Amino acid sequence: MKNYQATEKFLSGKTILVTGATDGIGKQAALTYAQYGATVILSGRNTRKLEQVYDEIESLGYPQPAYIPLNLQNTDPAQYAQVAEVIEKEFGQLDGLLLNASDLGLLSPIDHFDEETWYRVMQVNVNSTFLLTKYCLPLIRKAKKAAIALTSSGVGRQGRAYWGAYSVSKFATEGLMQILADELDKTEIIVNSINPGATQTKMRANAYPGEDPATLPTANDIMPAYLWLMDTEQNFGTGQAINARDFIK
Ligand code: NAP
Repeated sequence: MKNYQATEKFLSGKTILVTGATDGIGKQAALTYAQYGATVILSGRNTRKLEQVYDEIESLGYPQPAYIPLNLQNTDPAQYAQVAEVIEKEFGQLDGLLLNASDLGLLSPIDHFDEETWYRVMQVNVNSTFLLTKYCLPLIRKAKKAAIALTSSGVGRQGRAYWGAYSVSKFATEGLMQILADELDKTEIIVNSINPGATQTKMRANAYPGEDPATLPTANDIMPAYLWLMDTEQNFGTGQAINARDFIK
């Protein structure tokens, strides 16, 4: 995987939806996909931050992006259906879906875990991922070749004390990835999950306030893995749980 090299502009002509595109890894992935030629649809809950990323992509001369405000705490399936309708109207199909946004919730032992926080984390990390995927699938099937990438975590592969709802939500994410990959096995749609590993972002700083961020890889450092996830031209297979660290040279 360290040998993976994305071909210049290999995403030209492709439309990719990125959730949580306003900060951290999602923002960097959106910029990177645009750099490689994709038309990126930025999704996030904060319109001001969406506009900033939109402006940054435009000022770099990459393909003109689009943005769709969507708070994933929203539980109304009609809004997810509406997102798919807007994308269909504007772009006709979807070549890539990076399900990246997540809510960390809080770190707490199960016997003290706050119920409201548990429900919120499940809504943002699991239910919204299901809803967005469900309603975007018809658009993804329209693309000849397409990629769906779900964002996991180390605690989505091995449970760890106090990581509660977030960890459980990431196990569910891995399960959804495996189910989707199996259901789409006979198509040219690849579905994989990624564990970014400890990365310099606001979420990491919230989870580890005492840590020096300078000791961690940046979001930009892990972008080879994010390009690999969308590389349907080289097609490295489906149903895999990958680690971004394995791609850092
Ligand atoms: P981040 O910097 O906190 O960014 C999270 C993104 O998700 C932001 O764009 C945020 O929007 C968005 N988001 C959060 N709640 C949302 C909601 N209710 N509706 C819509 N958008 C929402 O985190 P990150 O570190 O880049 O994390 C990206 C992914 O990597 C997550 O799935 C995370 O679980 C995973 N991950 C990260 C690490 C790490 O070390 N950083 C390690 C393992 C896994 P705002 O800009 O409005 O806050």
